[in-house]
Amino acid sequence: MPLKIITVPCLDDNYAYLIRETDTGKVAVVDVPEAGPILAALKDLDWPLDQILITHHHPDHIDGVEELRTATGAQVYGGKDDVHRLPALDFALSEGDSFMLGSETCDVIDVSGHTVGHIAFLFNGAQAAFSADSLMALGCGRLFEGDFAMMWGTMLKFKALPDDVLVYSGHEYTTSNANFALTVEPDNADLLARVADIREKRANDIPTVPASIGLEKATNPFMRADLPEVKALLEMQNASDIDVFGAIRTRKDNF
Ligand code: ZN
Ligand code: FE
Repeated sequence: MPLKIITVPCLDDNYAYLIRETDTGKVAVVDVPEAGPILAALKDLDWPLDQILITHHHPDHIDGVEELRTATGAQVYGGKDDVHRLPALDFALSEGDSFMLGSETCDVIDVSGHTVGHIAFLFNGAQAAFSADSLMALGCGRLFEGDFAMMWGTMLKFKALPDDVLVYSGHEYTTSNANFALTVEPDNADLLARVADIREKRANDIPTVPASIGLEKATNPFMRADLPEVKALLEMQNASDIDVFGAIRTRKDNF
């Protein structure tokens, strides 16, 4: 029961994703920065739209929802904790909830930190996680609402996923994330190889997402705050994982 996933660039650097469950032909979109490119992609593919899945309340993830809902009649899914600041939801979801896209199960996890109430959509059967601005390729979202402990908890949830799960995040920020990651771990061979791959992709205007959990665990400094070698590089050998995560996040904010 595979999923066909199409990346739809929106606005300056956002990604929306169209997901088609191929047994039933049911289609979902993850986040709607703007309706135009998504409607154009649906038309090109000749796909209907059944579900609109919202990760969090920021305008660059929801601004096109009403136009897309009106144009397609799709039902809207989003976080229960954010109902007061999301478009009207047909399904309000909390961590532990699941729903079906055709014959595929989607599990909801709370990935707060960037915002409180941010959720991610996890299709376990298809090894695909839609993380928006929580875990990002070689990075994580800036902490607008949550604290270091909350976002480190979110990183641990992603670390617990199987290595072959592909992470589809919400922005093309990877070049800047790569430049920063190199300042934390300049000699990490996996990171150096990934950065070379990222630079080649961007030079050819190819998206750097998705990336696997295994690759993030090997190269993403925000996923690696608990590792002795990373603590040593930051001269924080005796600090807690949360404090090291916080130090890395603070450095990135000032990068
Ligand atoms: Zn955001
Ligand atoms: Fe965003």
